[in-house]
Amino acid sequence: MSGTADAVVVGGGTVGGWCAWFLRQAGLRVALVEREILGKGASSRAAGMVRAQGGTHWAVRLGQWSQAFYLSQPESTGVDSGFVPTGYLMPAFTQAQVAAGRARVAMQQLLGLDVSWLDPAEAAERIPAMASGSHLGGSYAPGDGYVDPPRNVVAYATACVRDGVDVHERTEFLGLRFDGGDRLAAVETSCGPIATERVVLTGGPDLAAVGRRAGIRVSAGGARHQVAVTEPSPALVPERVRMVFDLAEGMYWRPEEGGVLFGMSNPAETPGPARSLDWPYLDKVRSRMAELLPATRGLGLRRAWAATIEYTPDHLPILGPGVDAERGALAGVTVACAAGHGMMWGPAVARAAADLALQGVTDVCDVSQLGLGRFDEHGRSALAADPVSLPYPERTSNP
Ligand SMILES: Cc1cc2nc3c(=O)[nH]c(=O)nc-3n(C[C@H](O)[C@H](O)[C@H](O)COP(=O)(O)OP(=O)(O)OC[C@H]3O[C@@H](n4cnc5c(N)ncnc54)[C@H](O)[C@@H]3O)c2cc1C
Repeated sequence: MSGTADAVVVGGGTVGGWCAWFLRQAGLRVALVEREILGKGASSRAAGMVRAQGGTHWAVRLGQWSQAFYLSQPESTGVDSGFVPTGYLMPAFTQAQVAAGRARVAMQQLLGLDVSWLDPAEAAERIPAMASGSHLGGSYAPGDGYVDPPRNVVAYATACVRDGVDVHERTEFLGLRFDGGDRLAAVETSCGPIATERVVLTGGPDLAAVGRRAGIRVSAGGARHQVAVTEPSPALVPERVRMVFDLAEGMYWRPEEGGVLFGMSNPAETPGPARSLDWPYLDKVRSRMAELLPATRGLGLRRAWAATIEYTPDHLPILGPGVDAERGALAGVTVACAAGHGMMWGPAVARAAADLALQGVTDVCDVSQLGLGRFDEHGRSALAADPVSLPYPERTSNP
């Protein structure tokens, strides 16, 4: 291990991986420290949904930025993340949801997003496999789509190695060392210290634990999230199913290998790491999907998995300096979390974190309210939660 770096990034998921690459692109000598192997956390297990139809201006901007990044990959990195802009419908089932959806579309359009409200007949033209009469219309963004999460891991791993990021797998972050006063001196790892004046802390579902090792309280938790893929069917070709998010039920789908991939989070889930499948809940969601997408009824499953997804109490990202209870903001320490949206926001969060680590500001989006300072000592956020999010638990297990 090289004993010095201009910047150290902790965590080799999509946020840490792309952040390391952005810092390297800026000319820094970068060490990327990963406890296991690159992508071993949430990033290789995601469903890959990539949506700019967010419920806040932050979510829309981060989604737009990330989609532009994915589309630019053939030129910028040479290895793409498998992004397919397939179009995404968010149907409404009550008049209150119609009103909220229309207001969201107006906000998103002001931010330049290509999105519109479709009545049920227009939605049926886009997604003929959906049950007619099953909804009251919905917002639709043709540029939303999906990435292939394992391919995204390959993309950032290749870009990092090819462009000279010093990648340290099987190397655990242990803590930070400060020089005399508040100046960051080194990052302590299981393979020895790395002298540096900058560190970016990521960790996905383990970010709170990473933070604790740095003396920083991070209001982020983890909870079970489940994904399954159906057998193929001629009725489920991608142009007939596209992508759909039943926000109220916390369930979504997209095309996958001639069938559909669908994912879900249970709002009643007890927070904490969980990799085992909750079959009764999965079957409940499958019944709901069959109501909306009748061609899936009776289809077998090709695979299903559960993994721990990270969340923040307001479903918004964390981007800002590390804050120590006694010393306040720690110079040289940046914390980054995509709040369970690392496929749709990951590259943007990574780039914003790299910008903050380098110059303290970013033009990716306005991050002035996204730091740790928005959380009180109980982990509660001063910001209203993003309404377009899976129903993760609202409180962290580990504030
Ligand atoms: C089943 C599932 C489906 C999902 N679907 C979607 C989706 O459709 N769309 C979407 O936008 N998002 C989705 N997500 C969320 C998305 O996967 C995450 O937001 C994203 O992967 C987080 O990236 P990350 O780099 O912050 O964390 P991770 O990918 O978890 O990476 C963090 C890394 O830090 C490492 N680490 C932890 N502690 C230490 C330490 N002490 N020292 C060194 N390394 C350490 C871990 O080993 C890990 O590799 C899904 C998540 C899950 C689990």
